[in-house]
Amino acid sequence: STFPGDDSGNLTPRQTPGVLYSKAIPTPVEKVTLLAWSDELANELGIQKPTDQQEIDILGGNHVTDTMYPYAACYAGHQFGSWAGQLGDGRAITLGEWETIDGKTFELQLKGGGPTAYSRRADGRAVLRSSVREYLMSEAMHYLGVPTTRALSLVSTGEPVLRDMFYNGNAAYEPGAIVMRVAPSFLRFGNFEMLNARKETENLTNLLNWTIDRYYPHLQGENKVLDWFKEVVERTASLMVDWQRVGFVHGVMNTDNMSVLGLTIDYGPYSFVDDYDPDFTPNTTDLPGRRYAFGKQPGIAYWNLGCLAAALLPLIGKDQLMPALEHYKEIYWQKYYQMMGKKLGLDKITNADTELVTQFEQTLTAIKPDMTIFYQLLIDLPLYMASAEEVTEHFKDSLYNDLTPEQSEQLYSLISAYLERLNRNTFTRKASQELMRKTNPRFILRNYLLHQAIEELEQGDNTLFLKLQDAMKDPYSNRFDEFFQTRPEWATQKAGCSM
Ligand code: AMP
Ligand code: MG
Ligand code: MG
Repeated sequence: STFPGDDSGNLTPRQTPGVLYSKAIPTPVEKVTLLAWSDELANELGIQKPTDQQEIDILGGNHVTDTMYPYAACYAGHQFGSWAGQLGDGRAITLGEWETIDGKTFELQLKGGGPTAYSRRADGRAVLRSSVREYLMSEAMHYLGVPTTRALSLVSTGEPVLRDMFYNGNAAYEPGAIVMRVAPSFLRFGNFEMLNARKETENLTNLLNWTIDRYYPHLQGENKVLDWFKEVVERTASLMVDWQRVGFVHGVMNTDNMSVLGLTIDYGPYSFVDDYDPDFTPNTTDLPGRRYAFGKQPGIAYWNLGCLAAALLPLIGKDQLMPALEHYKEIYWQKYYQMMGKKLGLDKITNADTELVTQFEQTLTAIKPDMTIFYQLLIDLPLYMASAEEVTEHFKDSLYNDLTPEQSEQLYSLISAYLERLNRNTFTRKASQELMRKTNPRFILRNYLLHQAIEELEQGDNTLFLKLQDAMKDPYSNRFDEFFQTRPEWATQKAGCSM
């Protein structure tokens, strides 16, 4: 690798000035058992499904081949708005890079492979619960069309892992597991922040040049640092729009969890929104502040980009960076309204239409219907609605509560405005509905379904897990309508649970 700053061998948790990564050897586990394998991703990579134990052992860190150079990356970050100093891959170990026959390269990374130089006081392990969540959700996001890191395999380790239980404060053993994650790169905003904080300008320059050469090769020439930042801004804005489109709440948007490729990265206490609520956060440690709530994500991304911009100050003037950062807002809103136009099946978005979008947001916030089901019912809306009662009846399967007469009127006035707008569409109703079907998912991996699937897996029953794995691959179809229902009453919209 031409990557600067290598540090080898010593696994003791420590500060690592001057280096960008440290050698990290996966710690062997009791027994590696293959629980899940992503056939489609494996095909794209040209990797065959492992059959013998030695191959399976690779997926749990029990076998490291001669061609691998396992390492943990050094990065820092802002956590919940405060500078947190050095963090690094505390439980992720990159085994090496895989090159496909068409010349694309991917990092193959074990999450939960044991301690590294960056584990601080933690164990470097992951439990089955969090590993299933990362495995299923990162693949689900891919099939939803949202940029994301991927997951090739999920294995159990045959070893218990001790964890604090978030709901009662006790500690308990849980089964251990390891996911093999895949991405062109896992580089984060925090990798750059670390080097700026340490005033390692040469390393910063080298890392940035390397990143551009490898992942942004179209950016060359004098202004490439600024051009790179602009493209990260653009990709991040697109990602936020996608999250808002499908109702995904990441839960821990610290700058060490922000990909410089604009990918969704580090699946922890995330959740989809069930009942529409801009204040919803799935992260119990994010209360009462709700910094990372659903409706705040686009603004937090802007704040995080500000941290990235600050890290680039040794390389480029503030007068150049600031306008590029400020431009985020314009890019975001432009992309957001375009997306909302598609969600609503509109031929185009005009200034007047942005008012309709706002009316949707306000009405949904007031009524709190199930976001996913609401938009599905909107697709099949009859083109004439005679009364508030009729409208409420049409949306009843999306409602968590009976509507008050005022709410019912509010919904009626929204739908009347919407129907009036649909009437002015320049394309057919059918084309409009097709656009909506492509933009609005019908199946989402709801938190309670994941919870249920994990509980059953822990009892040795993988029926629901396999069903969800199937359903997430076709989220815009009606093939899995057994899951097309509001969250049941016994499952409150609660914490995603990360560790
Ligand atoms: P997160 O909030 O999950 O993104 O994690 C923040 C930091 O804590 C990262 O540097 C992780 O690598 C580290 N970390 C989280 N869990 C563990 C663990 N079980 N062992 C070691 N490091 C961990
Ligand atoms: Mg992280
Ligand atoms: Mg994490």
